[in-house]
Amino acid sequence: MIISLPPHVCACIETLEQAGFEAWAVGGCVRDLLRGVNPHDYDLTTSALPVDTMRLFPHVVPTGLPYGTVSVITPQGPLEVTTFRTETAYLDFRRPSGVIFASRLRDDLSRRDFTVNAMAYTPAKGLCDFFGGEADLKARVIRAVGEPALRFQEDALRVLRAFRFASQLDFVIEEDTITAALSWGKNLSKISAERVAAELVKALMGNRPSRLFPLLKSGALAFCGLMPPNITSFETFDRLPLVDSLRLASLCFLCSAQVRPVCAALKMSNALQKAAAAYQRQLTEPAPRTRSELKQRFSKLPPECWGGLLQARALLLGEKNEMLREQWKDVLAKREPWCLSQLAVNGNDLRALGILPGRETGNALQMLLQAVMEHPEWNTKEKLLEIISKRMDHQAGG
Ligand code: ATP
Ligand code: MG
Repeated sequence: MIISLPPHVCACIETLEQAGFEAWAVGGCVRDLLRGVNPHDYDLTTSALPVDTMRLFPHVVPTGLPYGTVSVITPQGPLEVTTFRTETAYLDFRRPSGVIFASRLRDDLSRRDFTVNAMAYTPAKGLCDFFGGEADLKARVIRAVGEPALRFQEDALRVLRAFRFASQLDFVIEEDTITAALSWGKNLSKISAERVAAELVKALMGNRPSRLFPLLKSGALAFCGLMPPNITSFETFDRLPLVDSLRLASLCFLCSAQVRPVCAALKMSNALQKAAAAYQRQLTEPAPRTRSELKQRFSKLPPECWGGLLQARALLLGEKNEMLREQWKDVLAKREPWCLSQLAVNGNDLRALGILPGRETGNALQMLLQAVMEHPEWNTKEKLLEIISKRMDHQAGG
């Protein structure tokens, strides 16, 4: 099996080898190259200690020294170089209690989570695959390295990672692996919120987020408010637009959870929280009934988000909203105004007519916006000033 590693990765491996060390590309990059996908980064595993690696390369950043990781900076980007490791006994369900450097590649590969992630490669020695990763990759299977129950007991994050990879790669989880994962999933509550959130978002953004269904059903994510969903199939989830906040809102919706407490429990960013909450509100409200009502809702959820929202409503609620979707497209294509800053007049224009700044101006602009949402063609300075003047005459007269 020949894999084509980029020249800067080969050069880094060669430098380490020429100094008498072993060095291999490992993990996600080997998995992705074998399945014909461009890796988003390259990790190396080596017999060299961090001090050795730091001596061999001109630009090295000690990014994770306690874990034996340094980043070798190349013009093509940083390469994470980690010393062969095994892990000592686990004190809790979080991080390993300590790191022990290993002398053999096999030890390093055996601590990795799944067979497809536990392969290594060098141009000189070829593929090193002790656990049948290549076969599992072909069969599209996620299988724990070693005894599944033990591996999930050691680190409960692996439970969520199994479902994340199943979703991203559209693989199935091997039977013993999924059984063990589901029975240890409860320990996910003891993992750092940020790490759970990162894996959950990756799982949601995968090709088959419906692969998460058994995990949700097991109640393993109830600790952050994601209660077992009361549905029998999750397939529609796979067809949701690829937008993290929308998928998160949809997940919360299916689990009868509120976005904000879930996001808070998982310490998700404010931006994601805000966007997901806006989607959730529009998922639970009745659909806009008219074109003008649709535009009024743009202040609650930005116009560009409505295509995805309406698609999600159709999938999750079974709503027939093709007409509304067509209207939405048309509103965007015609750039129909929907907010005050898009009006052809502003406060100064109104002041010239004698309208007082403050509430009076605010009310007048709101009134014009309502009119323009019904009649976008009225959005010219001339027409809007005419509307206001008429109204003032009317009020003076009445
Ligand atoms: P991605 O493309 O999403 O980065 P990846 O396989 O590189 O996928 P990472 O989370 O970056 O995943 O981890 C790098 C490698 O480290 C994995 O391929 C796996 O070998 C190992 N690994 C990561 N997390 C764990 C864990 N919790 N337990 C065991 N091995 C792990
Ligand atoms: Mg990675």
